[in-house]
Amino acid sequence: MRLLVTGGAGFIGSHVAETALRLGYEVAVIDNLLTGRKENVPAKAVFYQADIRYKDQIDWVYKEFQPEIVSHQAAQTSVAVSVREPVLDAEINIIGSLNVFNACLAGNVKRLIFASTGGAIYGEVPPGERASISWPAQPLSPYACSKLAIEGYLNCYHQQQGLDFRILRYANVYGPRQDPHGEAGVVAIFLGRLLAQQGVYVNAGRTVGDAGCIRDYVYVGDVVKANLAAMEDKINQPIINVGTGVETSTLELLHLIEQSIDLEAKIEFNPPRPGDLVRSVLDASEYTAIMGTTTDLGQGLKETAQWFREQTSRD
Ligand code: NAD
Repeated sequence: MRLLVTGGAGFIGSHVAETALRLGYEVAVIDNLLTGRKENVPAKAVFYQADIRYKDQIDWVYKEFQPEIVSHQAAQTSVAVSVREPVLDAEINIIGSLNVFNACLAGNVKRLIFASTGGAIYGEVPPGERASISWPAQPLSPYACSKLAIEGYLNCYHQQQGLDFRILRYANVYGPRQDPHGEAGVVAIFLGRLLAQQGVYVNAGRTVGDAGCIRDYVYVGDVVKANLAAMEDKINQPIINVGTGVETSTLELLHLIEQSIDLEAKIEFNPPRPGDLVRSVLDASEYTAIMGTTTDLGQGLKETAQWFREQTSRD
């Protein structure tokens, strides 16, 4: 089976590509290296440096590789960037995605997997609750709006033209290879700064000095499992949350990270960031029913910390 991973030089896409290769898929990657790195692309994957915003580049790759399944991970992924540059966000996340879908329809693609966001699409999740897929979407950032728009387009492409799809709404994903220099991915940012002996910033949930936002942190290995399950007919519903249902504040997360690397952080408290939700936790019951339990946060952080340590000693 030929699998095309868009955004396969990025954090999650490169893990999807790597696991799929191990399982015997033929894999190609499209990435323009906006935030991804060529070193992340597995050696056995075919790499096309191409930009999904340009139809001719996408069409050329589809003609060359003739994918049968597409895992669409490429995106502008930062909420903060989407607030500052909503047009750029829409160009990549909406127009780019439509180019990918149109090429799927013109080619012989049997299914498309779309990396959506459970962490942003439901809006604020009140204390004590977990957002399930039956909740109405309440996007509060341009990033969440563009992901939701694409979910709508996918439904429409399915109804009108038969494109088969699965939507995976990820919670906050962490793990090896996440970019420590980006604006998203607090686990990588904290690990990167702590190992470089730099202080860390805790952005407030509501007021400066509080424990920060509450999130549902899911290990990248569990996200890869969901992608493979979606490709292999183990997920039969069109949309599924990919999270743990466990809530953790930024400060709790930081303390777990400190434990995992045995270092103490010098903390500065910042005001809330525009576009950030105060609380986001997903109902993960459907994930667990299909894929089993998710990785415990402490364990996932240990594995992630180990990878970051190895990178630091290599640099
Ligand atoms: P990432 O930034 O590491 O990966 C995105 C990849 O897309 C990068 O390699 C980047 O270079 C590539 N890309 C960006 N614009 C492109 C373009 N115009 N053409 C081709 N390639 C382009 O981010 P990630 O965390 O691996 O995210 C993967 C997917 O998962 C994204 O769609 C993201 O929105 C979604 N997601 C991530 C999280 C998370 O917590 N990391 C949560 C919810 C959803």
